[in-house]
Amino acid sequence: MAELILKPGREKSLLRRHPWIFSGAVDFVQGQPQSGETLNVLDANRHFIAKAAYSPVSQIRARVWTFDENENIDADFFRRQIDSALNLRSYLGFFSRSSADTLEMKPESNAARLIHAESDHLPGLIVDCYADVLVLQSLTAGSEFWRDTIADILLEKTKAAAIFERSDADVRELEGLPIRNGALRGNPPERLTIREHGLCFTVNIASGHKTGFYLDQCQNRQRVAELARGRDVLNCFCYTGGFSIHAAAGGAKTVLSVDSSADALALGQENAGLNATTSTDLEWREADVFQALRKFRDERRSFDMIILDPPKFAATVSQAEKAARGYKDINLLAFKLLRPGGILATFSCSGGIDAALFQKIVAGAALDAGVEAAIVEHLSQSGDHPISLHFPEGAYLKGLICVKN
Ligand code: SAH
Repeated sequence: MAELILKPGREKSLLRRHPWIFSGAVDFVQGQPQSGETLNVLDANRHFIAKAAYSPVSQIRARVWTFDENENIDADFFRRQIDSALNLRSYLGFFSRSSADTLEMKPESNAARLIHAESDHLPGLIVDCYADVLVLQSLTAGSEFWRDTIADILLEKTKAAAIFERSDADVRELEGLPIRNGALRGNPPERLTIREHGLCFTVNIASGHKTGFYLDQCQNRQRVAELARGRDVLNCFCYTGGFSIHAAAGGAKTVLSVDSSADALALGQENAGLNATTSTDLEWREADVFQALRKFRDERRSFDMIILDPPKFAATVSQAEKAARGYKDINLLAFKLLRPGGILATFSCSGGIDAALFQKIVAGAALDAGVEAAIVEHLSQSGDHPISLHFPEGAYLKGLICVKN
């Protein structure tokens, strides 16, 4: 097996079980490993540290599969990892498994993330389940190398009807990998309808964001539904109406949904039609949220509940400052538009902004808006998006529920 030898002292993060090896930590590579091939990682004294997948063109030069010298990286390894990821979701109640080779989704919620990359010890691999179809996203040379093995094991373990591949994220370019978007196994449809907490959503798995739906907000959408009764709700960055339709189902009086994407709004309206939300007045508006909030302020409009779930403003810490200004702007405007007693459900999915910084930004927004508000709940990503304690980068989604005095 090829070997990757680290520079002196550069094994420290690996000894803390962080799975990434940056190019700057590499002294040299012995042998001629192919892209994605497994190699042994050794410290400068030639002691075994890990087995990792080689990414020759990426800044993250290798990603660890295992820290166990006796564990082979083969189909059985992936079978064990996939099994343990599925068991975790089964314990958490996302679905049930009566045997190692079955997976039964719940009728009221039949979509969930099955594999969450590094946090499930499978770097670069994301697998989501939408009813009986899986969507696989491979982001790294290592997950690409084992793609067919992984696809076969997924079918064996889930009995899914088909697998759609959404390996079309920009980060694949950094790995020197081609873009792929299409059927990987069977004949998956491009669109399908799932249920979440008993509500129906059509998901475009071929061209929707991520793998089609923001499954990471699943539990938070339910929480918003519980708080929405009787309220006039403004849902900013609504995408295909996840929070909007949950708020309506929770008994909101009105829901105004804003997004800049006409396609997302069209699907949102379609989704509203799939659910009995007739007692709520739903309005969909194509607009830039930064402008729309200012317009509402100038029109002296007000709401009892505002949801802010913007796209990632900062992928890395280096972009945090600019992102912070964006978050502060929309939160400040939202605080102004809220009536007394109104609820702000505000989120950040930026990896470059941690929970403490996000809370500071929201506090600064309230201060500058001249309002008193309190945090009543801290929110995070749903449990099917676990956060490995050794991989803090996995904690990307944070949310606050604030109540204005
Ligand atoms: N809350 C949603 C997910 C939001 S994703 C859910 O639960 O499904 C972020 C959304 O913000 C996307 O739909 C994107 O089209 C939209 N968006 C991005 N920038 C925007 C802007 N400046 N104004 C309005 N919408 C924007």
